[in-house]
Amino acid sequence: MTKLTRRQFALVMGAGTATLAMPTYLRAQDKPRVVVIGGGAGGATAARYIAKDSEGAIDVTLIDSADNFTTCFFSNLYLGGYRDFASITHSYETLESNYGIKKVTGWAVGVDRDARMVSMADGSKIPYDRLVVSPGIDLVWDSVPGYSEEAAEIAPHAWKAGPQTQLLKAKLDAIENGQQIVMVAPPNPYRCPPGPYERVSMMAHVLKSKGVDAKIIIIDPKDKFSKQGLFQEGWQKHYTGMVEWYGPDVHGGIKGIDVNAGTVETDLDTFKGALLNVIPAQRAGRIAQEAGLTNDSGFCPIDAGSMRSTADENIFVIGDASIAGAMPKSGFSANSQAKVAAMNVRGDLLKSKVFPAKYSNTCWSLIETDDGVKVGAQYAPAEGKIAATTTFISQTGEDAALRKATYEESVGWYAGITADMFG
Ligand SMILES: Cc1cc2nc3c(=O)[nH]c(=O)nc-3n(C[C@H](O)[C@H](O)[C@H](O)COP(=O)(O)OP(=O)(O)OC[C@H]3O[C@@H](n4cnc5c(N)ncnc54)[C@H](O)[C@@H]3O)c2cc1C
Repeated sequence: MTKLTRRQFALVMGAGTATLAMPTYLRAQDKPRVVVIGGGAGGATAARYIAKDSEGAIDVTLIDSADNFTTCFFSNLYLGGYRDFASITHSYETLESNYGIKKVTGWAVGVDRDARMVSMADGSKIPYDRLVVSPGIDLVWDSVPGYSEEAAEIAPHAWKAGPQTQLLKAKLDAIENGQQIVMVAPPNPYRCPPGPYERVSMMAHVLKSKGVDAKIIIIDPKDKFSKQGLFQEGWQKHYTGMVEWYGPDVHGGIKGIDVNAGTVETDLDTFKGALLNVIPAQRAGRIAQEAGLTNDSGFCPIDAGSMRSTADENIFVIGDASIAGAMPKSGFSANSQAKVAAMNVRGDLLKSKVFPAKYSNTCWSLIETDDGVKVGAQYAPAEGKIAATTTFISQTGEDAALRKATYEESVGWYAGITADMFG
């Protein structure tokens, strides 16, 4: 047996006759190994909690494609001019320096589940005892006929934060009097249910602040959307006549788009925009599919009590890639799921106590300066799914002081969650 930490030694001895069934990692090396794919809301949180709570007893590697992470959350506030880009971009340095996490920058391209090995695009391989998969979403380009990765350089989706968000802002800032913005909203399920409608609010805020007389048209494949009453009340109050929402019973179906002509063709009409913001359908990030963790829905089934993949007991799937029952795909949800997964990973590897799973989420949206609204819930496993136990939502007609307090709550939440992710 090679060097065991005192804690691992106690665990093995404490197991008494179980020594013969000692896990491979205790025989072969010093520490159990956890690899996390994806350094966003789910993955960064999971890596930090596993490293922090195991006090060095687990070797944690965090794989992300980039050196820094720009949050989608508050990217709408960047569009609206309330935040600068640097303030929504975060480094992994503290995770490395304060928590001993190994950060690997590059694309994970495969998972050999029998050998428990992640393959990287550069040919290197990273072994694991437990794997946490939190790759977020992939965009289903052809869900909107005429849209593609190349077309997104003209008609940005900005549904993954970074250069796309900056491109959308530049195009928004260039809108002139008499022009139109057309958003193609995504079908369910997608990341951040209120996100498209908060974005429309922030676009309208920018136009109104500059005195630009322009319209925003939303072509929606859904017949209703998150916080609809609250958004429509806010648009009527702050941006009278600027925003038009068309559900499928009115537009009759999206036939296709032409990004060069700047048109969205529906059964009802062809809408022309100086700016098209196209948000296509979504599925779990590609690595989840490559690893065989997805089902026909394109997302990953999990055990509601642990976030463990139903396809592989050594793998946990969290965040947008998972099928998390009643929980929306949000940064708050991903962060909450990450803590449940981290606790179960430590339970597996260090035999630490595992408590019953509880989850929570709140999605705040800013409609106009100091006019914040929210929707949220607490969740627990019930009948094999994650189900809501209590729910809450802002009400129409709330007074300005309450709306301001709701917005301020969201500012505090952003500071809190990013500290929870990145240390
Ligand atoms: C406009 C907008 C506004 C939003 N606002 C809010 C909000 O106010 N509140 C809220 O809670 N949520 C919000 N969200 C949703 C939130 O951003 C996501 O739900 C959350 O980021 C999901 O976390 P995740 O860990 O699943 O994925 P992500 O945070 O996207 O992290 C995934 C990471 O993994 C990396 N990755 C993927 N595959 C690989 C691979 N094979 N190899 C290496 N790296 C890989 C990706 O590049 C990415 O960095 C918003 C989203 C949008 C688009």
